[in-house]
Amino acid sequence: MKDPQDYAFETRAVRAGQHRTNEGEHSEAIFPTSSFVFESAAQAAARFGGQEPGNIYSRFTNPTVRTFEQRLAAMEGGEACVGTASGMAAILATCMALLKAGDHIVSSKAVFGTTTSLFNTYLTRFGVAVSFVPLADLAAWEAAIRPETRMLYVESPSNPLTELVDIRALAELAHARGCLLVVDNCFCTPALQQPLALGADIVIHSATKYLDGQGRCVGGAVVGDAERVGKEVFGFLRTAGPTMSPFNAWVFLKGLETLSLRMRAHCENALVLARWLESLPQVERVYYPGLESHPQHDLAKRQQSGFGGIVSFEVKGGREAAWRVIDATEMLSITANLGDAKTTITHPATTTHGRLTPEQREAQGIREGLIRVAVGLEAIADIQKDLARGLGG
Ligand SMILES: *Cc1c(COP(=O)(O)O)cnc(C)c1O
Repeated sequence: MKDPQDYAFETRAVRAGQHRTNEGEHSEAIFPTSSFVFESAAQAAARFGGQEPGNIYSRFTNPTVRTFEQRLAAMEGGEACVGTASGMAAILATCMALLKAGDHIVSSKAVFGTTTSLFNTYLTRFGVAVSFVPLADLAAWEAAIRPETRMLYVESPSNPLTELVDIRALAELAHARGCLLVVDNCFCTPALQQPLALGADIVIHSATKYLDGQGRCVGGAVVGDAERVGKEVFGFLRTAGPTMSPFNAWVFLKGLETLSLRMRAHCENALVLARWLESLPQVERVYYPGLESHPQHDLAKRQQSGFGGIVSFEVKGGREAAWRVIDATEMLSITANLGDAKTTITHPATTTHGRLTPEQREAQGIREGLIRVAVGLEAIADIQKDLARGLGG
């Protein structure tokens, strides 16, 4: 594939980044090797000296990881991508490469729990300050920016209440104030949302979720321009070491081939489920950007090409009623993971958001009756039937 951008998204997802070896293999090869050999001492010296491009050691580059990176870069529309050992390693590498002591981050409040811990517990130790703002409130983002702010950090849609931010507007604000906009695109994936085209500078992925799509491997990625990602984030990773293994890269790159199809199916199932839940008298409220009742439905239609696979809903009767629904399921997996072919069900108030104080939870809208479903690829009728057991519906 000469220039992947000459091809449609689905085609890039299947073919970008493949470099066939002289064995003529059709499927991408896995290169499980820690180091690479040189033809001569002079070649080794030239590789190490940077005069000759090529592989040296798999902490630096690996052909299978490179195929994954080039494919994901082509799908997100970025110049460069680096694979990482996990989604958290992608966030860490981005911060370590692009920030220094004295810098400040503004982040949305509703971000992945471990991201909050990384910012609050660890980055602050190295002199990087963090402020948290309500996701959808552009005025709050603007008010939180200080002269030393370098990075705005956001997830859209948010977990678990599926709140959105206008990425284009936030990118304009970031650039007007000399900041980078970093978007964690885990929930939508490039199949539904391409933040770089909306003006974001860097995209973060937990490949563990939809990119794999079948719950097998932990991994992550950073996508962006050649300078910041291709040089600086890459430079941190090859030095510090939280890089992606070739085996995991192979699993993820095969996952990318079916990403469009899978995301479409996740979206279709999720919309049917959300509409059904909204019709039940036992359900207080449903959170899904695809519903007309979602306050940002129009923004979701504009910014995303699908509404995603995560549906949250609040049942009447608080924790007791929510746990009854969860415990009555026979098929759904009670787990906090998402982005799997298998539907998962979670009680955020006592798991993913259990470490917050009741007041913090209330402020974020995480009530005791809230249930999050990451809708999988099973028949929607079976998913409904399983949830209906505890809903009496
Ligand atoms: C899971 C997740 C992460 C962290 O990814 P890991 O692969 O578990 O390290 C980051 N952001 C979001 C939105 C996630 O869901």
